[in-house]
Amino acid sequence: MSPKHVRQARGVVGIPSHSPFLARVSGPHEAPNCRPPDHQFFTAGGWVEEQRGVLAVGGQRRPPTPSPWGASIGCCLSAGVPLPYNGKVAGLASVEGLEIGFPRPPGGVVRVVRGGEFAVTEGDSVALVGESGCGKTLSALALTNLVPEPGRIVGGRVVVDGEEVRGLSEARLQRLRGAVVGYLWQEPGMAFNPLLRVGVQVAEAGVLRYGWSRRQADCRAVELLRAVGLENAEALAAGYPHQLSGGQRQRALLAAALAGDPRLLVLDEPTSALDPLAQQSLLELIGRVQKARGLAVLLITHDLQLAARVARRVVVMYAGETVESAPTQELLAAPAHPYTQALLYCAITPPGGVPRPRGEELATIPGRVPPPEAWGGVCRFAPRCDRAMARCRTAHPALTELTPERRVRCFLHAGAEDGGG
Ligand code: SF4
Repeated sequence: MSPKHVRQARGVVGIPSHSPFLARVSGPHEAPNCRPPDHQFFTAGGWVEEQRGVLAVGGQRRPPTPSPWGASIGCCLSAGVPLPYNGKVAGLASVEGLEIGFPRPPGGVVRVVRGGEFAVTEGDSVALVGESGCGKTLSALALTNLVPEPGRIVGGRVVVDGEEVRGLSEARLQRLRGAVVGYLWQEPGMAFNPLLRVGVQVAEAGVLRYGWSRRQADCRAVELLRAVGLENAEALAAGYPHQLSGGQRQRALLAAALAGDPRLLVLDEPTSALDPLAQQSLLELIGRVQKARGLAVLLITHDLQLAARVARRVVVMYAGETVESAPTQELLAAPAHPYTQALLYCAITPPGGVPRPRGEELATIPGRVPPPEAWGGVCRFAPRCDRAMARCRTAHPALTELTPERRVRCFLHAGAEDGGG
């Protein structure tokens, strides 16, 4: 991850590169108990709503930001109800025909994502699955227009919270980052600024969204760190990132992602840097938080087993495009695309199955994911597909609807059409 990418990542969870406290709260809300107005906080009993008030930000009074959880008071332990998804419904976030390009001298553009398609509805859980280099992380970054420079979205539609992301002003994008979409990164050590105290960084998205005072931010950071199961939260908040273990940093990063009360949490390989016990613990925590807050989750992983544990739907990406999407159980029971079938065949422990016997040789998919320059107007999986036909090497399959809930990009299925380059 480049320094620029890291800075952008910090921006997602509201961590600016300069002095963090841009807003002050005045009047009766500067209370000793440090509770910001019109907001909810997490206690052992759940999320509880606070009193309403008026904030003064940058010397100007403004009404408080409405709570994303409505006016209900008390525990909020019911999960959001996932809406039906037929591959076309624009939910909380939807991506259609996504193309992400990087400049290639002299004057050209190489498209590293071409054909990304997925959607996430309120309270839903979706997994983007595929090998490294298939465009999963870039597609998730596109949700808040955080594709690392010099790359950019060059085609397709990305709609988040009803707004087309391409062309949004930086101020509108900042609203999406942290307040609508929060990110939990694979490498928490890279996402934190080593020069700032943990508490300052954990509270930053809340400071930007709700205008917490310095004292409120300090208290909130401690509450958030406690809410993600960290003991001795005061000391951790006052410390620096290098003083935390890997598991603590990952939880602290989750706390930072939650500070702005996002409605969609993107989890980019969240457990890959953790030991098995810490993985299990973090997954349970994420499940509890998702249920308590009705959060939608977009999981990025190469691990179908992890996807099966977390997600209601799976979207399989290969070589920069979506090749299959389906409800998780349907996809595991009857994968339609040869690439999905190969991924399942290669799993050390097939989801829902028994671990392979010790000593048994593991299966692999022969070949490699082709680079964008080699995609051409053909099926990108053809060089590795043991069922490839002549048509697969002369035409590019379109994403075809099998049922209202299932789509696949493969000529083996009836009705599959040529989808162009
Ligand atoms: S279109 Fe042809 S090459 Fe591509 S996955 Fe289907 S069968 Fe294999």
